[in-house]
Amino acid sequence: MSKKKLDGIGVKDLLDNIPIPAFIIDNDHVITHWNVSLEIASGLSSRDVVGTQDQWRPFYKSKRPTMADLIVDGVQTPDLDQFYAAKYHPSDVLQGAIMAEDFFPDIGKGGEWLSFTASPIKDANDDLIGAIETLVVITDRKKAEFELTEREKRYRELSQVDDLTQLYNSRHFYNELGTELERSRRYKQPLSLCMLDLDFFKRLNDNFGHPFGDQVLRKLGFLIKLHLRSVDSAYRYGGEEFAIIMPQVELQDAFTAVERLRLELSEVVFRTATGQVVNVSLSAGVAYAEGSDSTGSLVSKADKALYKAKRSGRNRTCY
Ligand code: GH3
Ligand code: MG
Ligand code: MG
Repeated sequence: MSKKKLDGIGVKDLLDNIPIPAFIIDNDHVITHWNVSLEIASGLSSRDVVGTQDQWRPFYKSKRPTMADLIVDGVQTPDLDQFYAAKYHPSDVLQGAIMAEDFFPDIGKGGEWLSFTASPIKDANDDLIGAIETLVVITDRKKAEFELTEREKRYRELSQVDDLTQLYNSRHFYNELGTELERSRRYKQPLSLCMLDLDFFKRLNDNFGHPFGDQVLRKLGFLIKLHLRSVDSAYRYGGEEFAIIMPQVELQDAFTAVERLRLELSEVVFRTATGQVVNVSLSAGVAYAEGSDSTGSLVSKADKALYKAKRSGRNRTCY
């Protein structure tokens, strides 16, 4: 008895009982169905829009094809590219259906994010007779995603360790250098600072690819850590620049330590993706903290020494 009743139910009744805004257009782009959920979401009643081509009205300021229109036109991927850029993708669930997520600034108060799917409707002969488009407001989800990304970014910034090299990052560098400088002054102990910079690193990236460059950075991070005494601390200061703070170390000993590191790196045999063998060198500058030094002036002295090493031919250490 109840089955019989359901058999006779029409498309309109069905759509009106779904809490998802939906509309259907025929092959002439004319609206045939506009469900209750869409009436509520758009503020347009089905009486006013069925029989028209106003499906764009809730979403855009002026007439343009909706995704259902594109389906009815049998558009190919390049056309979708033109209208929806990289936002659309084929539905994971329905064959021939397309999904997209987009921000609609004209909907609601401050605009809404919508996820919409348009799907072809075919008759018994498999001929296209129209398209159905459904919409889901995903503004809350998008907001949550955005907040999560922001939080992750902040967290990374707060964290002190560089992912690639596992050395401390540059933010931590200035804090620590300040602390060590203060300590060396108070206890009248030596303090040395080394700045290292890989030679011709840009060319290395250009010739063998960024992943290869990353491999070199990782290896240098590893070598630096290997040579660190317990009181030293090492930092990835910039892209391919590193710093080592050496408390209780005289200039000459700092120089020797960095030279050892430089030679060790120069002996490493790197292999590129194509099997080519490559050697990499670094230049270094060493500076020694004087009583009058600030973090800025000490870094600047080490930088000057590094610059000198670069200028005088690279693959060397200067002070
Ligand atoms: P120089 O000998 O004078 O130091 O030349 P250089 O090419 O090493 O110096 P430059 O400053 O011109 O280039 C540094 C390069 O380092 C450019 C940049 O693409 C690369 N780089 C910075 N960070 C990274 C990274 O995380 N990974 C990789 N693979 N490359 C990086
Ligand atoms: Mg360099
Ligand atoms: Mg550099």
